[in-house]
Amino acid sequence: MNRHHRLPLTALRNDANVFASRLDGLDAPTVWHEFSPLAQEYESINLGQGFPDWNPPDFCIDAMRQATDPKFNRNANQYARSYAHLPLANVLAEGYSKKWNREINPATQIATASGVTNVLYCALQGLIDKGDEVLLLEPAFDIYSSQVNMAGGTCVYCPLRPDLTSKGTASDVFTLDMDELRSKITDKTKVLILNTPHNPTGKMFSLKELREIAQTVLEHPNLIVISDEVYEHIVFDTKEEPHLSIASIDDGILWDRTLTMSSSGKTFSCTGWKVGWAIGPPHLVKAVTAIQQWVNFSSATPTQDAIALSLQQAKEPYQGFDNYYEWLANEYERKRGLLTKALQGAGMNSITPPGGFFIMADTSQIDFPYETIAKQPSEAMPSAQMPRDWALSRWLTQEVGVTAIPPSAFYSESNIHLAKDTLRFAFCKGDDTILEAGRRLNVYFS
Ligand code: GLN
Repeated sequence: MNRHHRLPLTALRNDANVFASRLDGLDAPTVWHEFSPLAQEYESINLGQGFPDWNPPDFCIDAMRQATDPKFNRNANQYARSYAHLPLANVLAEGYSKKWNREINPATQIATASGVTNVLYCALQGLIDKGDEVLLLEPAFDIYSSQVNMAGGTCVYCPLRPDLTSKGTASDVFTLDMDELRSKITDKTKVLILNTPHNPTGKMFSLKELREIAQTVLEHPNLIVISDEVYEHIVFDTKEEPHLSIASIDDGILWDRTLTMSSSGKTFSCTGWKVGWAIGPPHLVKAVTAIQQWVNFSSATPTQDAIALSLQQAKEPYQGFDNYYEWLANEYERKRGLLTKALQGAGMNSITPPGGFFIMADTSQIDFPYETIAKQPSEAMPSAQMPRDWALSRWLTQEVGVTAIPPSAFYSESNIHLAKDTLRFAFCKGDDTILEAGRRLNVYFS
């Protein structure tokens, strides 16, 4: 017998809370863990979690093959440069230099990491001290607040005020009250996180709004903007509502204060490749690279090479369009139309998104047994009392067979009431899937 077996064992008690106390609550399941399994259980059409259910274009798949093949690429399969793989940084620098009319240095002004989720994590770890405040505009993608908490920061929430009577797009419906924003800024506010096109609403911040935000930021010398622009190429009525980066407006008035983040997952329908980047002045990019070198050291080389090749290929004519981006926007515009029609069948009013691949729908007309559903157990539910939108999404899944994301997952407790009459539906799904959702809604509600 092994002599170690005679030693007294100090077993970890099953009920011991091994989770670090500074991460209090972050071990709870999230909205993503609740609604995808629920959709599966009820064989519901899942318009919840936002990822495309089709493959990347062939040129991306070919690029990925090439990226791992030593015949084409001698350094294909070893660590990438920690800060950013230069073949990718070079292509990004060229693209954003043109887009922003500013010379971007690939060696010092670009960081890459495993998707924007990881880029943001590094940035917040690099920028936030304990007690620093981070301003989030609600609804805010749920990962933001958790990452702020992990960095020791304090979230301060400024809600976009929904005006469901507005006949405009999501940009008009979800408005930012500048006085309210200003009132939330204190000496401790270090970062403002912007997201345009915005998840979950599809709102795109206008030049007027960005200018006002920029002016406010400039009044506070310690304030930095992180702008998450991962849906930058999924934009529709660009003449009316162009996608604008706050880093580039007014000859770069806020360039020194802004870290812009974007990624390849949404643009090339490859959310699993996890290639994201931050672009900005060296002193801000350094916040990402300083953390990255200790967390991942570098992100995967082949995916970065494949995205570098894909970004070059995307500029070429594609499927009858002048370039891949135009094809992409056109595809999504058609799908937005399909989903809008599908939701009308249930008496839901779509709040037209000018960007992104989600529709927020006004569900106030839907009657359902809230009291009964609200008694169902839900580990991921953020509030003691199940919010109406949360219950409605559970009920739609179970009774109608269509699943959405309840936007209350994107609100802090004090603003959760703003979510009650809306649901977020994804249209990054096959036409047949959207049509089937429409059929189910129509059959049930007519
Ligand atoms: N960004 C996607 C969404 O909002 C996916 C989120 C996730 O998987 N955490 O649906």
